[in-house]
Amino acid sequence: MRSSVLVLGGGFAGVEAAIQAAKQGHQVTLVSDRPYLFLYPTSIWVPTGEGRFEDSCLDMERVAAANGFRLRVAAVERIQAATRQVWLAGEVLTADHLILAIGAARLKPQGIEHTFTLGGDPHAVERFRDALEALLAKGSGRIAMGFGGNPKDTSAVRGGPVFEMMFNVDTMLRRRGLRSQFALTFFAPMDSPGARMGDKAVAAMGQMFDRLQIGTRYGKKIQRFESTGVVFEDDSTLDADLVLFLPAGAGHPVLIASDLPRNDAGFVTIDPHCAVPGMPGVWAVGDSAALEGPAWRAKQGHLAEVMARVAVENIDASEHGVTGPNYLDHLSILCLMDMGNGAAWVYRDDRVQRMVPLPVVGHWMKKGWGAYFKASKLDQVPRIPGM
Ligand SMILES: Cc1cc2nc3c(=O)[nH]c(=O)nc-3n(C[C@H](O)[C@H](O)[C@H](O)COP(=O)(O)OP(=O)(O)OC[C@H]3O[C@@H](n4cnc5c(N)ncnc54)[C@H](O)[C@@H]3O)c2cc1C
Repeated sequence: MRSSVLVLGGGFAGVEAAIQAAKQGHQVTLVSDRPYLFLYPTSIWVPTGEGRFEDSCLDMERVAAANGFRLRVAAVERIQAATRQVWLAGEVLTADHLILAIGAARLKPQGIEHTFTLGGDPHAVERFRDALEALLAKGSGRIAMGFGGNPKDTSAVRGGPVFEMMFNVDTMLRRRGLRSQFALTFFAPMDSPGARMGDKAVAAMGQMFDRLQIGTRYGKKIQRFESTGVVFEDDSTLDADLVLFLPAGAGHPVLIASDLPRNDAGFVTIDPHCAVPGMPGVWAVGDSAALEGPAWRAKQGHLAEVMARVAVENIDASEHGVTGPNYLDHLSILCLMDMGNGAAWVYRDDRVQRMVPLPVVGHWMKKGWGAYFKASKLDQVPRIPGM
């Protein structure tokens, strides 16, 4: 047996890190406060009734058994990175290597309790589904969906899922013959939301909103939410019966309370190898880590997995006195933006910006990705390189 590796967090980043470290023969323990891995990308179908909550859950015991690592379901209460010590209920764990992957917290604008959301607590998606169904039962209404920014770290802004939700709700309303009774409006504080995906993607999205008669309110900071809708910085309002809002991310409270170095937004500082500077044997990956790189960089699930692999390869490299790969070489934006009746394949890196419409088939490709993801984590199908 080689080194002991303690992975904190059972999301995309933590699970991939645990799988790869176990594959390398390390003795791996993964701690997560949830007994399941939640597939946020497929949870967008829960509100429209196309998917069930359980469809987006992957049992962690099965993943651990299939990949040969130990699972502890418990909340991490405190971390002392300098000594690689982690406090759980009534216990202190330590290891040769500590991989931090407990995701992020979210900013809380005033009046957030008047909104529904995606991400964070997995059950939020069920609360939005129930509110949406209740509004639909009334026969007509106004639905607003939007996302917020974090000026301290623009990589923590997450708008893609809200675009997906808007398109999926539009598709569902049309299928039910209800679209004309519901006003849909998309809002965001940026002048050009989605700009990090590239100019082509922004233009295509604008055309799509026009064609589907989805209104937009862009370029004004959100002052607060009220039971009647959104209030912007200039006191103008967007009246709505139902608001879906995805706040930008910020540092996880457990990481903020620790001795870890962090950027202004509270994300853990790392070097290009995902190592935490000045803390030997400590690594941070996924949404917990502060990303360096170009202005368009974004915290995404696929990057979380890349970072997990980079961290594990560097653990091995460090044990041989060499340097391993660098996550900055793999920075890209990659998503299959689902619309309920198709999807758009979006890709951006330093050299190219692409958006390819995939009517009908794109929707089924995203569904296929969900099935592949689960089967691959259970070691039931061969891994496609990079996925
Ligand atoms: C609705 C939605 C759709 C998305 N779609 C896409 C997409 O199509 N493509 C894409 O690339 N990305 C997508 N993303 C982004 C992607 O889901 C995230 O980037 C990814 O989940 C980050 O992985 P992570 O492991 O770093 O963090 P998380 O997935 O947040 O995982 C963190 C883990 O840590 C655990 N944890 C938290 N606190 C503690 C604690 N104190 N103690 C123990 N465990 C703890 C949590 O239970 C969780 O298991 C989407 C996000 C959302 C919300």
